[in-house]
Amino acid sequence: MICSNWVISSKTRLCCLIGHPVDKSLSPIMHNEAFRAKGLDYVYLAFDVDDLYLKEAVEGLRALKVKGFNVTMPYKVAILNLLDKINEDASFVGAVNTVVNDKDKLIGYNTDVDGIISALESKVNSLKGLKALLIGAGGAARACIVALVSKGCNEIIIMNRTFDKAKQMAEDLSKKLSMNYNLEKLNIDSLKKAISSVDIIINTTPIGTYPNLDESIIPQELIRKDLIVFDVVYNPKKTKLIRDAEKMGAKTIPGYEMFIRQGASSFKLWTGIDAPIDIMRRAVLKALG
Ligand code: NAP
Repeated sequence: MICSNWVISSKTRLCCLIGHPVDKSLSPIMHNEAFRAKGLDYVYLAFDVDDLYLKEAVEGLRALKVKGFNVTMPYKVAILNLLDKINEDASFVGAVNTVVNDKDKLIGYNTDVDGIISALESKVNSLKGLKALLIGAGGAARACIVALVSKGCNEIIIMNRTFDKAKQMAEDLSKKLSMNYNLEKLNIDSLKKAISSVDIIINTTPIGTYPNLDESIIPQELIRKDLIVFDVVYNPKKTKLIRDAEKMGAKTIPGYEMFIRQGASSFKLWTGIDAPIDIMRRAVLKALG
């Protein structure tokens, strides 16, 4: 295959994604554009791996000396036992989304944490002393807590549909991180009360994702213009929550900013080179339509 002056040869290095399913992933488009922009002789592919063969797939990637790979649902936790080393953020989150092959040793990272920090810091100079409302208690929520606490935003209201899941997550993370948290069950009254006291709202539930484009976790009238509103959902480009927050004059962070920035961090880990973020953003926004 030839793309402009780029030819895949016996020297081309491989990075990839493993998960199930992977056919909707934007990572191949984003990373291949970035490799080309930087003139790197790398290629990125996506592999749909059956759970019966996860171990064999990981050992195969090691044997083939790939530079590194991303891990997506449903293997972000299962991969932990198959790696040689896990970095601190990934071990706090309890999940890995990026693996680096360092001389046949597989090292796990969680660049979602970097993506969240970078996306937040694009809108606010310092997170120190700010108070956050985090909605949801899944994998993305755990990465958000690690990101917030690492930057000094350690007053967090955690709100979830299933209260016990939020409790379990908070108890687990507070053993490793210094954080002050309140737990609330998700409902309109707890939302109203919490929003009145915070600086940042982060939605980590899938509400508002395609095809439910008219759904939002927060009624528009509860959003103030002095809030920072971050929705981790990245399909559509702008969820109803982000559109409503824009209308109310709040600062907004759409989920694609996190997606691009976690990708940029993986790119740097694999190549040692700063990622071309603007090119990655252009590729992702074009793919999102
Ligand atoms: P997850 O582990 O399955 O957690 C989902 C969370 O959302 C749970 O707390 C769940 O509550 C809550 N939830 C689901 N449906 C809900 C509903 N109808 N009403 C209220 N709460 C609901 O998922 P995840 O891995 O954290 O991913 C969450 C979202 O983040 C997905 O849309 C994913 O695509 C997105 N994401 C984006 C990026 C990025 O780079 N931008 C990265 C990772 C994930 P219960 O506990 O009650 O079930």
